[in-house]
Amino acid sequence: MKPLTHRTKIVATIGPASCSPEVLREMVLAGMGVARLNFSHGSYKDHARNIAQLRTVAAELETPITLLQDLQGPKIRVGQLPQGAIELIAGASLDLVPIEGFMAQPDKPDTVSIDYPYLAEEAEVGMQVLLDDGLLELKVEAIKGQTVRCQVIEGGWLKSRKGVNLPSLDVRLPSMTDKDKQDLNFGLDQGVDIISLSFVRRAEDIQALKTLLAQKGAADVPVMAKIEKPQAIANLAAILDACDAVMVARGDLGVEMSPEKVPLLQKQIIRACNRRSMPVITATQMLESMIHTPRPTRAEASDVANAIIDGTDAVMLSGESAVGDFPIKAVEMLARIATDVEKDIQFVNNPPATADETHALSEALNTIDKVLDLRCIAAFTATGYTAMIAAGERPKAPVVAFTPDPRVYHRLNMIWGVRPILLDDQAESFEEIIEQAQNRLVKCGLAASGDVILIMGGIPSQIPRGTNFLKIHTINGV
Ligand code: ATP
Ligand code: MG
Ligand code: MG
Repeated sequence: MKPLTHRTKIVATIGPASCSPEVLREMVLAGMGVARLNFSHGSYKDHARNIAQLRTVAAELETPITLLQDLQGPKIRVGQLPQGAIELIAGASLDLVPIEGFMAQPDKPDTVSIDYPYLAEEAEVGMQVLLDDGLLELKVEAIKGQTVRCQVIEGGWLKSRKGVNLPSLDVRLPSMTDKDKQDLNFGLDQGVDIISLSFVRRAEDIQALKTLLAQKGAADVPVMAKIEKPQAIANLAAILDACDAVMVARGDLGVEMSPEKVPLLQKQIIRACNRRSMPVITATQMLESMIHTPRPTRAEASDVANAIIDGTDAVMLSGESAVGDFPIKAVEMLARIATDVEKDIQFVNNPPATADETHALSEALNTIDKVLDLRCIAAFTATGYTAMIAAGERPKAPVVAFTPDPRVYHRLNMIWGVRPILLDDQAESFEEIIEQAQNRLVKCGLAASGDVILIMGGIPSQIPRGTNFLKIHTINGV
């Protein structure tokens, strides 16, 4: 078993640069805890193969890996382009044609398909169209039938399937498209651990996904809201009430709002999540320059550090690991930054968000963690809730989560400071729990005879949110 190192979790998007078993293995060894499968890209065959390989690696290394299925939601994209990309020249014209699957003809390189059927109907002359997280900019010049003719304002290379933002339109697409529903079925068949939804606008978007999950007998699968729309910021509290986890999706957020809004919104969203002990991922462009260079810019290293200081549970790689030249080095770099920064952070403890037993015990845990030099906190958890709340206190001591449920075991790996351990059998009595905790901790090299640990759990076991004891225990006789 890997030793405990950094406590911030590392999410890496899997793509062509990272889909071989060797690279996946090295990324896990370097500290990847969560694999993001972006259903905006790749075929079911690719995703199924990646999932199988990740499971093999996880089993071989005896480590949990959270499989995060990212649904693209109502994201508008351009279609396939000849040779995968075209160059847009500032001042030139470009026609956008809203036909799904339409491929620009090699002889008509100035025509690009876009998968938004209402574009011609809703566009107005002068309207801004942003491509590829806002890197490229167009302005609508004329609308003729279904064709929207634009002028290129900011040029550059446009690659296939890049995102399109229409900041002035209230996009008329459902929160989940037919493709998302198909993708969801596929993901559930594959047993993904958590599902994220892009472009969430209101709490109802999350509730609709949860209803679908319940209908499919998967009500326990957590749902992550990607916050990237101005409407989501306006409805943040209600969305947080409805979801189980959050992603600060800075790429689209910076386009839909504007780049200067991102830093404070990031802090505000992370703080709101921390208050609820709700897991939050900070995403996009964290080590962007490492797509092509083996070292990050100092600004990127600072950005990663600042997200950690803000209180994020996890930092994420997108293009760096999906299509970059240095996927393993990028994971290593995040791990190095996290390890170093974590030595010096003092987190502010939040008042309990809910008046339940688990939160009350966490408050006590916090005090004990401050006074004693605990080797670790052993949290016995059936649903993952106890471990999540314990980690929400951001204790000095690592939280080792013991669970008999393989799904919870993998899922918990996205939470700050939690090291999940899978139990073969459920301990029933208080004595059995203590016995199991100390045996496994010593066997895994996470504690030794003489160490003081804090055990948190519930008796009888297996009752969701039934946490009802804390026990200070000195490991002996193992
Ligand atoms: P999102 O808005 O959900 O983040 P994205 O298109 O920005 O979607 P990322 O996962 O952030 O996608 O990855 C960044 C870029 O890497 C993508 O725009 C795409 O060009 C490339 N990419 C990612 N995954 C794949 C893949 N599986 N196959 C091909 N290219 C990919
Ligand atoms: Mg992105
Ligand atoms: Mg996005």
